[in-house]
Amino acid sequence: MTNLKLASLGEGERTVIPIDDVAVGEGFTIIAGPCTVESEKQTIETAIAVKKAGADALRGGAFKPRSSPYAFQGLGLKGLQILKKAKMETGLPIVTEVLDSRDVLWVSEYADVLQIGTRNMQNFSLLKEVGRSKKPVLLKRGMNSTIYEWLNCAEYILSEGNPHVILCERGIRTFEQYTRNTLDISAVPAVKELSHLPVIVDPSHATGRISLVEPLCLACLAAGADGLIIEVDIDPNAAVCDKDQTLDPGQFAEIIKKVRSLHRFLSGKQAEAR
Ligand code: PEP
Ligand code: MN
Repeated sequence: MTNLKLASLGEGERTVIPIDDVAVGEGFTIIAGPCTVESEKQTIETAIAVKKAGADALRGGAFKPRSSPYAFQGLGLKGLQILKKAKMETGLPIVTEVLDSRDVLWVSEYADVLQIGTRNMQNFSLLKEVGRSKKPVLLKRGMNSTIYEWLNCAEYILSEGNPHVILCERGIRTFEQYTRNTLDISAVPAVKELSHLPVIVDPSHATGRISLVEPLCLACLAAGADGLIIEVDIDPNAAVCDKDQTLDPGQFAEIIKKVRSLHRFLSGKQAEAR
């Protein structure tokens, strides 16, 4: 039914993915940063702020998959150079999206994690190319895809020889319109039943609403997620893209405090139960 081989849970251990000093799949990993790299000042100030609040890695798009071809498409190489500088300033590893299989090799020189966005989840030539890369891949769930389709896309990457795939639930399309997408919380424990790969959640793109980010961060931690990827900007009101879902550093710091505290509580409960 599923044809999963390398992605399935099997008898083995759960996969832990090293990104510099961070181990995704161990503890609770928080990736944060702007939707889009817009300038050196914006990116570095955001990076410093999210690091101070306790983020483990920096996100930021240099190539943006926009619905309209006339919308800002990202700074490309310049954006990647800015991300590299932000890493030098903060030590945070960089998570950034790659849109085209022809860019995988050179983008890998700037990225610590290659993100495959929801719109490219089934871009099989891109999946094969990142599968031949040595960099970990953050594979977002296609907005119209089932869990098995998503896991099969992870299988494409694994079967090319790259064992480092992080799954990311980012909401799916339903009839609901209050939220940008519908966060499928059940996908988190479902993936844990089916696969050894770590799974994180993107509450920003899932909801499109600042007010819903905190409750969903806590919910997916309780549901067993291995981490979060959250949009944060030093000045969300000035953000070119996704400002309605982008936290300011103060909001982010408050959420992180609650998330870390819930994580400590739940880890203590697990230890007690053993
Ligand atoms: C993003 O994380 O920058 C992004 C575009 O997300 P998604 O692919 O989930 O829409
Ligand atoms: Mn965004």
